[in-house]
Amino acid sequence: MSEVIFDFDLIVIGAGYGGFDAAKHAAEHGLKVAIIESGEMGGTCVNRGCVPSKALLAASGRVRELADVQHLADFGIHAAPVRFERQKIADHANNLVATIRSNLTKTLERAGVTILKGIGRLEGDQRVGLRELNGVDQVLKAKDVIIATGSDPFVPPGIEIDGRTVFTSDQAVNLEWLPRWIAIVGSGYIGLEFADVYTALGCEVTIIEALDRVMPTFDQDLTKIAKRNLIDKRDIDARAGVLASKIKPGCPVRIELSDAKKRDFIEELEVDAVLVATGRVPRSKDLNLSSVCVETNRGFIPVDDNMRVLVNGKPKSNLWAVGDVTGKLMLAHTAAAQGTVAVENIIGNILKIDYRSIPAATFTHPEISSVGLTEEEAQELSKEEIFELGIVRSYFKANSKALAELESDGLMKLLFRKDTGEVLGAHIYGLHAADLIQEVANAIARRQSVLELSKEVHTHPTLSEVVEVAYKQALKQLDKS
Ligand SMILES: Cc1cc2nc3c(=O)[nH]c(=O)nc-3n(C[C@H](O)[C@H](O)[C@H](O)COP(=O)(O)OP(=O)(O)OC[C@H]3O[C@@H](n4cnc5c(N)ncnc54)[C@H](O)[C@@H]3O)c2cc1C
Repeated sequence: MSEVIFDFDLIVIGAGYGGFDAAKHAAEHGLKVAIIESGEMGGTCVNRGCVPSKALLAASGRVRELADVQHLADFGIHAAPVRFERQKIADHANNLVATIRSNLTKTLERAGVTILKGIGRLEGDQRVGLRELNGVDQVLKAKDVIIATGSDPFVPPGIEIDGRTVFTSDQAVNLEWLPRWIAIVGSGYIGLEFADVYTALGCEVTIIEALDRVMPTFDQDLTKIAKRNLIDKRDIDARAGVLASKIKPGCPVRIELSDAKKRDFIEELEVDAVLVATGRVPRSKDLNLSSVCVETNRGFIPVDDNMRVLVNGKPKSNLWAVGDVTGKLMLAHTAAAQGTVAVENIIGNILKIDYRSIPAATFTHPEISSVGLTEEEAQELSKEEIFELGIVRSYFKANSKALAELESDGLMKLLFRKDTGEVLGAHIYGLHAADLIQEVANAIARRQSVLELSKEVHTHPTLSEVVEVAYKQALKQLDKS
């Protein structure tokens, strides 16, 4: 039998954060790599996600700070009324997107990755079909293939998107206008971040949440304090257990609200705009997965912890998937970490992803972050493995730096095993929570115990002492036997 001649060692389909990391890492290890992208280089994170949303949050956060007359007065500062230009804030986000997209493309080119513009699909084992933008179609052969096609916003049935008055985060990041009154459907991290931006820029917000509490995916203790600051103290009306069953774009936008459980009609709202932030769906349906016998789970591609694609529960040779399309902790740094893991396995270094140590953050003002197990998951584990779960709370109120900043409403909750002291999870709400969580994420990655962590010296006065206090409190609760 003649030997197969491969066009590439590796073809990556999708140049989002997951695909980018995989392609770069593989090229740096000497593989001949091609990456196929049907849209803009950088995918969701760079063009419609992390990057523009954080730029908007940075600018609007400053507006919020300067407009907070009472907070400034408490420092003895009296500033002139704050003015801002919406277009310039939008430009800041757009310019940042363009810079990061161009840097990312150059990085791949410098690493020697071949960038192919077009739509990729599978054409059987180790074969990738490419429909180029000019319509030319070809099939390429690769030793290994990584699927990194990401996700799109989920729009529930009954909701019509026109992109102008009813839109998803894809359009919201452009900040094309500032509605006087905007309804945000969904109170996950995307809904909360945009509520932060819009309220800082003077919009009135109604949050519509179908589940029976607002911020349903966050730790309950944290939610109490976060909700007080991020929702109740702002120009936000939050409604839980309510379904936006129909939304019709226009001027005004009409929203039909019904009871989420009984489905009874409640009322009709008329608002200026609606942002639909109800989660994301995987982009996998046009990949021709049946050509490699892969069955998805609601569109998500099943993978093992080495990032091998699974067929009937068994790993398939030479086929890998990373990022949002796998449905695991749908975040940019997860996608990138999965990309690295896939490539390490391709080059023969057996490596598994450790989801427990991957942190998540919501960049509201102040921020919310978490890593590891939720309290419910930790309780479950304690029953399974028969140990007592330790829970301690460390408050920003007792932290000198937070007090100096006049931002002392914050809480860290630490979950740990009382027998070994191993840290299982942490949840933080408060100033710079997104930075603070990294220390705990690193400890979880090393499966460290508060026995050693509580001895580590933290800089004074810094917010990191909130974490130090939690470790020290936990130490006192360890089983003495
Ligand atoms: C508003 C918002 C804010 C966010 N903020 C954060 C944050 O602060 N931090 C964080 O970690 N995460 C954040 N995320 C999530 C993050 O953007 C995603 O987790 C991340 O982009 C996933 O990367 P990916 O590589 O899996 O997919 P994507 O970034 O979606 O990239 C997939 C790429 O594949 C391409 N593609 C799809 N199908 C094909 C095909 N058949 N052929 C060729 N190309 C194809 C797409 O065009 C796309 O460019 C945010 C998301 C949103 C929407």
